[in-house]
Amino acid sequence: MSGDMNLTRADVASWDETDSLASFRDEFLLPDGVVYFDGNSLGALPRKTPERVRALVEDEWGQDLIRSWNQHEWIHFPRRVGDQVASLIGAKPGEVIAADTTSINLFKLLAAGVQLRPERRVIVSEKENFPSDLYIAQGLAGLTGTHELRLVDRSELQAAIDDDVAIVSLTHVDFRTGELHDMASLTKHAHAHGATILWDLSHSGGALPVRLNNAGADFAVGCGYKYLNGGPGAPAYLFVAERHQDDIQPPLSGWMGHEAPFAFDTDFRPAPGIERQLCGTPSVLAMAALEVGVEILTRADIDRVREKSQRMGDLFLQLVDEQCDGLGLTAACPRDSEARGSQVSLRHAESYPIMQALVARGVIGDFRSPDVLRFGLTPLYLRFVDVWDGVATLKEILETEAFRRPEFQNRQLVT
Ligand SMILES: *Cc1c(COP(=O)(O)O)cnc(C)c1O
Repeated sequence: MSGDMNLTRADVASWDETDSLASFRDEFLLPDGVVYFDGNSLGALPRKTPERVRALVEDEWGQDLIRSWNQHEWIHFPRRVGDQVASLIGAKPGEVIAADTTSINLFKLLAAGVQLRPERRVIVSEKENFPSDLYIAQGLAGLTGTHELRLVDRSELQAAIDDDVAIVSLTHVDFRTGELHDMASLTKHAHAHGATILWDLSHSGGALPVRLNNAGADFAVGCGYKYLNGGPGAPAYLFVAERHQDDIQPPLSGWMGHEAPFAFDTDFRPAPGIERQLCGTPSVLAMAALEVGVEILTRADIDRVREKSQRMGDLFLQLVDEQCDGLGLTAACPRDSEARGSQVSLRHAESYPIMQALVARGVIGDFRSPDVLRFGLTPLYLRFVDVWDGVATLKEILETEAFRRPEFQNRQLVT
């Protein structure tokens, strides 16, 4: 640390006064007394969502009934929301569609990658990738019976991508440590070996600038309920680069991906373009909520969002250094904000009860096995003073050892 005087809460509050994103906070409904560091797991509720969902249920469903598919364009939800998401992740309109879950979309696109390289037998991923991403790849390999999942440490990735690889599957920002991959250079490396690459944007889409087409990415998937604020279980999205779209025979060939769903043909004929990636009927109630969340992000300058998120992360780590010195915390995330996504991760031997004690005081982050305290940074509705207050509460819990109380020791199903 430098020899500068330590920051005060007033210093930090003055940053909020000049923050150009500050007004976005009013677009969300946040409970009083809560400091919310879990928008990377479940985004906050947009103020407009309850009315939009009410109108959809009571007016569109209740009054207009089945006519709404045409009248209120329910049938266009996947494409319309997909085009909005495309603008957040460096894709073109027509390259992204909102549908299904991240896990299901992973299956579709890993299968697509394997199809595009029929002579190759290897899928590469990282051991530390999000479990569902690994489980889906395992399921696909089991189904084809001929593919091998090559799982390596982060440091061995480049070497693991050789001329046997059909597809590389990576998460842009590591869910545990917040480490950010260099999308452009890994994509280039995969292509140099003739492989395709799939990026999971669950922890980067809507959180930082993503430039899929600049990087030359082949495929991507991402989550609707984290940084996109689409609500619990919101539909996910998927991206297929335009050059590949018509070469993929969808493995989940449902009627919504048919060229003419209402022709009720006997045989599957895939729709042209991204639409063939649809499977069944869109989840209309959930799409309406997702659209509200995504629309807010389309009005925010993502470069400013990134800048504020980096500054918040740096502040968080600086305050931990200044105020929690000797209390057993170490950084699990990169200290260099260029190498870090939109979260701060800390390690402590007692992370689980510490997070329970924080949540009991209204400071909501989450615990990730085995020992990580995770704090998501969502610049549209978090203030710099929230970071101050969060770290002050953490310091108090560690100093008083309040986390040792018995009620904080029981592990719940969802952590
Ligand atoms: C959140 C997340 C998922 C979630 O997948 P679901 O199908 O929505 O449960 C998948 N992958 C990553 C990297 C995630 O962060």
